[in-house]
Amino acid sequence: IWSDVPMGPPDAILGVSEAFKRCTDSNKMNLGVGAYRDDQGKPFVLPCVREAEAQIQAELVDHEYLGITGLPAFTQAAAKLAFADAGNVIADGRNVTTQAISGTGALRIGSAYLNAFSGGRTVFLPRPSWGNHNPIFTHGGNKIDNFAYYDKNTCGFDAAGCYDELRNKVPNGSVVVFHACAHNPTGVDPLPEQWKELSAICKEKDFLVFFDMAYQGFASGSVDQDAFAVRQFVDDGHNILLSQSFSKNMGLYGQRTGAFTVVCKDSEEAARVESQIKILIRPMYSNPPAHGARIASKILNDPNLNAQFSGDVKGMADRIISMRTQLKAGIESRGNPHNWDHITNQIGMFCFTGLSPEQVAKLTADHHVYLTKDGRISVAGISSKNVDYLANAIHEVTKM
Ligand code: PMP
Repeated sequence: IWSDVPMGPPDAILGVSEAFKRCTDSNKMNLGVGAYRDDQGKPFVLPCVREAEAQIQAELVDHEYLGITGLPAFTQAAAKLAFADAGNVIADGRNVTTQAISGTGALRIGSAYLNAFSGGRTVFLPRPSWGNHNPIFTHGGNKIDNFAYYDKNTCGFDAAGCYDELRNKVPNGSVVVFHACAHNPTGVDPLPEQWKELSAICKEKDFLVFFDMAYQGFASGSVDQDAFAVRQFVDDGHNILLSQSFSKNMGLYGQRTGAFTVVCKDSEEAARVESQIKILIRPMYSNPPAHGARIASKILNDPNLNAQFSGDVKGMADRIISMRTQLKAGIESRGNPHNWDHITNQIGMFCFTGLSPEQVAKLTADHHVYLTKDGRISVAGISSKNVDYLANAIHEVTKM
């Protein structure tokens, strides 16, 4: 029966890791995967997470099912982390927030919800966007298109192109997806004034705005600063959709801890929306896993753990920012003829280096540095021990 099943292409990012594993050179670097590493290159468990786990262990919790929408103490705290008091959303009971199988699962629920209730609106993604966005929204049954976002010439935000396409290409009432902070793969975010302009354009055009927030706190080191765009839009009266991931900011990757929110016009609308979200989730996975939500809930609801979390996430963000500074300085100190300001202008886990596919291939073949063909490097994979090696390798492949 399966004899006609064709072989599918390998996953682009996992392919990089496999090639890295096969490499035997002692200088090899894996800059493909988007997971934080400490300065020893090791996976990092946040001290606040260790402490929350110890408390959960001592409580001898049971392993009963959560409800369809997950752990209420977690979903309420997640919504508060995102919105604070913006737009009175929480005070007015206008948010429907459900636990989700991390950020991916939150987007997938959102995609199913849009397919069922948006009346066939096309979903517009930034160009480029996270490689899983297109499949997630397509899999949910939505039509996909895109709008200008990244300027290859400046390795920065293409503000003029973005405004123009949102105004003139994207039909009124479409769904528009933004990365709330630390855009993946480019590391390029609009400035606060540019977010305000985008919010105004989205108002003019009656867009339904979907924020993907996978890096809150991880970009600037401050959870409030990184929530600027989400809060601005909500303050401006946009009833947004929101996906949240705790993979990066709490390092809970494998625990699949996330949330999906629909902001509604009032609590009566919210009750109807919530009833439908439950109906969508039930046949997908019935109810979400508990452990990661318990950890995140403890951290967000306990003032001491919450303070520790702020320090822990800032520590990760600061290490990444310092790697960016050192990488740029290392390339420039070798007299490289190109401009590398974008390394420190971009934020978050990733840097879009601007290297061509040929230069990427040379970096891997000659210097054993592994990254995706688009020239994206995970800055979290660089350490004080190998940053100079990488600077030299990038200089060597770009100096001509
Ligand atoms: N959105 C973006 C933009 C991401 O970069 C990621 C993680 N790579 C996610 C969502 C989802 O990750 P997760 O499912 O681990 O929360």
